[in-house]
Amino acid sequence: MNLHQGWVVWLEGTQGMSSGDPLQSERTARIRLIGSARTDAPLPFGAMAAERVLLVEDDPHIGASLLRALTATGYDTSWVRTGVDAIESFRVKPAELVLLDLGLPDLDGLDVCRRIRDHDPSAMIMMLTARDDELDIVIGLDAGAIDYITKPFNLAELLARVRAQLRRVAAAGSGSMEVGDLRVEQNSRRAWIGPVELVMRAKEFDLLARLATDAGTALTREVLMSDVWDENWYGSTKTLDFHVGALRRKIDSGPGPSRITTLRGVGYRYELP
Ligand code: CA
Repeated sequence: MNLHQGWVVWLEGTQGMSSGDPLQSERTARIRLIGSARTDAPLPFGAMAAERVLLVEDDPHIGASLLRALTATGYDTSWVRTGVDAIESFRVKPAELVLLDLGLPDLDGLDVCRRIRDHDPSAMIMMLTARDDELDIVIGLDAGAIDYITKPFNLAELLARVRAQLRRVAAAGSGSMEVGDLRVEQNSRRAWIGPVELVMRAKEFDLLARLATDAGTALTREVLMSDVWDENWYGSTKTLDFHVGALRRKIDSGPGPSRITTLRGVGYRYELP
């Protein structure tokens, strides 16, 4: 699975997802995304945008079950069955995420991927593939796919990946992100707990945003250090512990467990509500 170095962070972020755990699913569902890379105007506090998902799948059973699950999760989902329809649909109504079957009746999924990317280079595409060999995957990535999932897949795992991916879209874009009563605005670099704005140093904000982006999943010390401090970081992680401590003093209130859990020998996890 861990084929592409550039994706290690994301893969880390999904490892903690317990797809079969109903409590975890229920908790994860409480993460709300507001805004996205394509939303120019910030939404009012508490508003929730329905992210658009374009599902491209010619298999009627897989398509129907995915459509049902994605719609039930709250995504504004369109389902098309051919590559031509996928390209046209994306052109008319761009989606935050495209779930794209590799084996389509008319066009090759990779061609569809390329053409969607020609239209919008930042399009987020997740391949659904029955072809499991590495070469196809690499070619798929070169064509602009950001992720793939191999059939047969577990529905809960797929939904967890979709959530993670959309959270990353929102976090990377001009939108903002909510985890429980925490709200983080990437563009203005501001964050709130409920109505109270947090006063933070630059690295504290970066760390909080990084943790919140993958809320509910364990992030290793190495990932946090390299993402927040330096891409080529090696050495002590004391500064990480120092910043987590400072963050905790700002975001935790009263007794009870911290919002950021220490995972001994691993790293940290921002807890879902
Ligand atoms: Ca197919």
